Amino acid sequence: MKRILIIEDEPSLVLTLRDRLESEGYDVVAAADGATGEEKAAEGSFDVIILDLNLPGKNGLDVCRDLRGRGVETPVLMLTARGDVTDRVVGLKLGADDYLPKPFDMLELLARLEALYRRRPVSAKPGPDGQAAFGDVRVDFDGAVVTRGGEELELSALEWRLLRYLVDHPDRVLPRDLLLDEVWGYEATPVTRTVDVHVSSLRQKIEEKPSHPRHIVTVHGQGYKFVPGG
Ligand code: CA
Repeated sequence: MKRILIIEDEPSLVLTLRDRLESEGYDVVAAADGATGEEKAAEGSFDVIILDLNLPGKNGLDVCRDLRGRGVETPVLMLTARGDVTDRVVGLKLGADDYLPKPFDMLELLARLEALYRRRPVSAKPGPDGQAAFGDVRVDFDGAVVTRGGEELELSALEWRLLRYLVDHPDRVLPRDLLLDEVWGYEATPVTRTVDVHVSSLRQKIEEKPSHPRHIVTVHGQGYKFVPGG
């Protein structure tokens, strides 16, 4: 599920946005002022943020600048009532990714959000805390917990090793015999079909549509590729 944070002080707009975004499959969190929004943005793992420019207390430009300063790279769509080109330029300079003047068309907003969602930074490689994320999959390698869309998945020991190897080697072609060596090691039966079987079972668990995988893709005649941003 895509997680979105709405930082907006106009209750009726928040209500409208929440209804529509939830019906589009977003998990929505809202904040009504800049400071609260900034804290939520810094704490939560959101895929995208809608940020109003004119907010009580801390305004949207300051929130955006401070979030970037704190290393929060979540894509930001900035909203403003003003059609002022200066605000737009300043907003983009301060780290907003896109800009939409109010009043906006809901379909336009959804299209912008989709584009931002696709461009969101994906850090599939596990950090120092052993956590990795791609698509709606969250992996805690240290705690051996993997979820997809919030639902916990059961992986076999071999699937864990395979997933770890894939996550550690994103966006490159991994030939079957390399995977056999690296994941199966000495116990490997010299049958590359083994790789296909386990890739298939891992896809059944982590891919939304296992028959049309986005993350563990087949590179015909060469092997597999793990695509975190797929
Ligand atoms: Ca406002």
